Amino acid sequence: MDICQSCRKNSVEVIDDCDNPAYPYKVCTACHDRLVNMSLRPREYFNLVSRHGMTFLLHDDFYDENGTASAPENEVVFDPALAFPVLAELRDLSSIVDYAIVEWQVSDEVVAAMKRFEWKEVLRELDERLTLNVGLTERICLLGALTCGKHAEAWMLWHWGERTHDNFPLYAKPMATCLPSDVGFALYSQQVSQVEQSSRFVETMMGLMHFQSKSTLSWIEGHIGRVSNISSSWGYLAAASQFDWATAKRWLEGGRPLSLVALDALANCAVTSKTQNSVPFLRENPPRLSDPDTVDAMSRVLQQYGETDKVPRVRLNISYILENWDRILKQ
Ligand SMILES: [Zn+2]
Repeated sequence: MDICQSCRKNSVEVIDDCDNPAYPYKVCTACHDRLVNMSLRPREYFNLVSRHGMTFLLHDDFYDENGTASAPENEVVFDPALAFPVLAELRDLSSIVDYAIVEWQVSDEVVAAMKRFEWKEVLRELDERLTLNVGLTERICLLGALTCGKHAEAWMLWHWGERTHDNFPLYAKPMATCLPSDVGFALYSQQVSQVEQSSRFVETMMGLMHFQSKSTLSWIEGHIGRVSNISSSWGYLAAASQFDWATAKRWLEGGRPLSLVALDALANCAVTSKTQNSVPFLRENPPRLSDPDTVDAMSRVLQQYGETDKVPRVRLNISYILENWDRILKQ
């Protein structure tokens, strides 16, 4: 008898593939009714997310991080037996991996709990989860990387071999977490270079941020010619990649398009964890300008560039940079 994935008590009565045709919900009638009405109890939410990940019906618009329904369309009937699990009370690896999949952000506590098990056992358990639902690829690979480190290198390369043209960006963060930086960077950047469509190319290149590699700066020089519109993405990527003053100066002196990226990257080096309008990666990993010259010397180079390129984007960026050297240098 197949057991309901939600209550893990009743038998399966409904198979619903509304969120994922490759891995449908298999639930009892009562749990299905609660699922489609966003009215699950915390433990039912936990059990489903541990198998399905954050699908539409289990989305954070409908539940908080502890599985409490925030917009239920049916009354949520409280049941103390269906409370959200407490990590410290979980003993077996399978339950801890469930918890690690359900968390919105992987916590240090859950990584420490998984590290108590032998790494081969952890990778085996993670592979079993992926065999069931390939939709969990990103989280499973990240968990393997965070908990097994170097032991997960060959495992990660094997999984990278399973990538598709559509899903390869999911591997950027896990690969940057456990592979030697040059290996992960080389594999990922080669894959991005093969993307033909220009908006998709820019979207997927953002995965390079995770590697925080200086090699990205030469990669940008080699690939900027592929687009005609220099969006803010290039400046985010450069700022995340050990952006240094020598590169900034060279790009400014060489003129467009790299001069525009240099200005964006310098401005993005001012991002801190409190900056509102930036990308999450930079807020979580605030960059700084590497190997700076004196503020006076750098300001002179910017002012000289401003004499030759007077569009509003340039003027605004230069005045922002000149006012924010302390944050750009993180002094
Ligand atoms: Zn059920």
